Amino acid sequence: MAQYTPMIQQYLEIKNQVPDAFLFFRLGDFYEMFFEDATRAAEELEITLTGREGGTKERIPMCGVPYHSAETYLARLIEKGYKVAICEQVEDPAQAKGVVKREIVRIVTPGTYVESKQMSEASNNYMVSITRCQHAYGLAACDVSTGELYSTWMEGSLEHVLDEAQIYQPAEMIVDEALLHNVQSRIRHWMKNPVVNGWTESGQERHKPEFLQEESWNGLNEPGQRSVAMLLGYITQTQKRSLRHIHELRSYENDQYMHLDPFTRRNLELSETVRDRSRKGSLLWMLDETVTAMGGRQLKRWLDKPLLNRKRIEERQEAVSHLVDGWMVREDLRQHLKRIYDLERLVGKLSFGSVNARDLHALKVSLQQMPALVEVCQASGSRTLQRLVADLDLCEEVAVSIEETIVEEPPISVKDGGIIRTGCDPYLDQLKEASSNGKQWIAQLEQQERQATGIKSLKIGFNKVFGYYIEVTKANLSHLPEGRYERKQTLSNAERYVTPELKEKEALILEAEEKMVDLEYSLFVQLRDKLVTAIPRLQLLAEKVCEMDVYQSLAVVSAAHQYIRPQLSEERGMEIVEGRHPVVEAMMTEEDFIANDTHLTPSAPVMLITGPNMAGKSTYMRQVAMISIMAQMGCFVPAEAATLSVVDRIFTRIGAADDLVSGQSTFMVEMRDIQLMTAKATARSLVIIDELGRGTSTHEGMAIAQSVIEYLHEHIGCCTLVSTHYHELAHLEETLAGLRNFSMAVKESEGEVTFLRRLVPGAASSSYGIYCAQIAGLPGQIIERAYGLLSESAMDAASNKGAGSQHGSEQPIEQISLFEEPKTRQEPVRKGRADRGAASDLVAVAEKVS
Ligand code: ADP
Repeated sequence: MAQYTPMIQQYLEIKNQVPDAFLFFRLGDFYEMFFEDATRAAEELEITLTGREGGTKERIPMCGVPYHSAETYLARLIEKGYKVAICEQVEDPAQAKGVVKREIVRIVTPGTYVESKQMSEASNNYMVSITRCQHAYGLAACDVSTGELYSTWMEGSLEHVLDEAQIYQPAEMIVDEALLHNVQSRIRHWMKNPVVNGWTESGQERHKPEFLQEESWNGLNEPGQRSVAMLLGYITQTQKRSLRHIHELRSYENDQYMHLDPFTRRNLELSETVRDRSRKGSLLWMLDETVTAMGGRQLKRWLDKPLLNRKRIEERQEAVSHLVDGWMVREDLRQHLKRIYDLERLVGKLSFGSVNARDLHALKVSLQQMPALVEVCQASGSRTLQRLVADLDLCEEVAVSIEETIVEEPPISVKDGGIIRTGCDPYLDQLKEASSNGKQWIAQLEQQERQATGIKSLKIGFNKVFGYYIEVTKANLSHLPEGRYERKQTLSNAERYVTPELKEKEALILEAEEKMVDLEYSLFVQLRDKLVTAIPRLQLLAEKVCEMDVYQSLAVVSAAHQYIRPQLSEERGMEIVEGRHPVVEAMMTEEDFIANDTHLTPSAPVMLITGPNMAGKSTYMRQVAMISIMAQMGCFVPAEAATLSVVDRIFTRIGAADDLVSGQSTFMVEMRDIQLMTAKATARSLVIIDELGRGTSTHEGMAIAQSVIEYLHEHIGCCTLVSTHYHELAHLEETLAGLRNFSMAVKESEGEVTFLRRLVPGAASSSYGIYCAQIAGLPGQIIERAYGLLSESAMDAASNKGAGSQHGSEQPIEQISLFEEPKTRQEPVRKGRADRGAASDLVAVAEKVS
């Protein structure tokens, strides 16, 4: 150490505190990085690596970013999953003895980054903590930009708590040191640039974080308290600034909401599509007609957590219903909401002390909409909306204080003046007058000088270096009298002068202006500090606004697509008349979506759906799940009528897209999902299985499919939809009282198959797999060989059966789906439009091809 210069020694000491972060070390107008930080940053940011003398023989690697554009570089490092510690000079260099004192003022991390311009308005930026306490896990999640803080706990395995963590799509996590390795290895497939920190217990975890409400804290059990304390401990350590907007904690138990595991969320494409992880094409995209950014984030939270409490669902439905019927109310609401800014994030900035005058102006404009919004809700006729605004504190005095203090169009900077209204502070007004009088005096002086010298082009100007000056062009210099004018600056074609009286006035003006700017800033800070006390009330207000926005969004979508209000029933089952898939329907441009019914009752809860590839089986099954989710969010549903029981959990086993991501074999993933299903499903669950048993040989696959169906039927009795290639399974209808066969109808004529997309009772007799291959244009040779193999295996099966064997050929025949990539694929065998009414045409035929 001793060999280094004092500054490098200081750098190394500070760097020692943050080994896992880049250290932005302030040196004049730059943030510099040294040693390994410098080489890595130069590579990551594509900036030039230089060197600096530091006391050793070799130069120390160094690179830097200018202070003024540091934000962009910082954002790039954070996006790549790095942390950056900002180290500032904390004393005036002019006063410093020796090396200027420096300190880390903040550590910016992916989960706590709030200033990013890139940060999407539409989504939250969560940081999640996980702790383990005896047999339970605690989980807490916080969005530092809005102050939202959630906490829950659960028993069970680490997988379950990670499933819950995944819902928050965290940018960063902090977990018990002992869990670190396990967590890291399990999240790679869903967390982009995973940033997981280990936390070593310090004893602090048993104490309430300073800014958190007493009741919230006391209401938590041990795992809950530890996870919250750990999370807030980490956030405090890194932020080193006020966090008073994080004071309210929402704790929940997992069984308050419909349980949707990550696979199901992904399979049903609730908030992003499987194919390209885009929002467009997801249910969230479909339902999002919110007009405020915070309403959009709230909608996602509702979609993430559909309710189980029937009363609460019906309350939401009541609001949506009034807004569906009353388009005028809906429009009014939308118009006022459109003028509301992102209150949640404005409040966050207020707490950090990073609001500027424009933000306060935005806050004021938002608050000014509130009385009208309240009026619309009160007049809406909806009890839910009326209750939402009853006794609502509109924080009117906040708007008034801002109105009285801040001008209408303030500049971004708070340190250059021009933000405080006249009439707000008498001394400021005096200074303003002095400065404007001074300027007037100067304008007059210009006139006087012109007259006195006869130089028409003489002018008085101002610059930061020389202050006020009198400028005379070289051509006119001869007209200038001697003596009074003192030369200050020579330009190529003019000379600049000052006079004693100009100097005197200048001093007065500049002094007034300097005082004015300082005073404006301190008045601004006073106002800001006063408003900080209103943070909890503003947050409550923001919450109500979010809710209004979500109601109107659901109503707009429901009205536009003719959704209906589903009835909720205590009776188990689902009765859907003419149900549709909300997203597939909305994406279809050329043809109509064909609606289908669903009847699931306690005595007949299982549907076994057969039919060829591309017939519409999985669309149908997904639509049933989506209708359930939408209903439990409080939204209307795409159907003509629906009576639904509240579903506690949806399990899906759909498609193979997810298997590729996690790198596990299709079959293992399938079996793991089925295991979860059988372990966790209750009579109130909804189970959806698409193509069960596809990952193994036909006979084994069929055997597993049959036994899983039997198990669900016998032991769980939940609503179950199963689609299968194995039309042989249709015989189950004879032995399982609660199972009904259905198929997707197809019409065949003149050797062509048309999908009718109609669900009809009874099983299909063939899966048309080879036929599809033929239409898709596979070489004739392959098709002929396939038909040959098929008939051979059919003959084998027949002869083996004769010999008493149940297993048939030992040769596994994989179920190959030629059309495994759904949605945007071509529909090679679909001909013309389906005929919704012609029941006589619904001939599900085609014998096994010889
Ligand atoms: P399967 O699961 O039987 O292979 P899919 O459910 O994937 O078939 O449906 C294939 C395509 O058919 C879908 O991408 C969709 O475009 C279309 N489709 C499905 N159901 C319907 C329907 N009810 N009405 C209109 N088109 C549909």
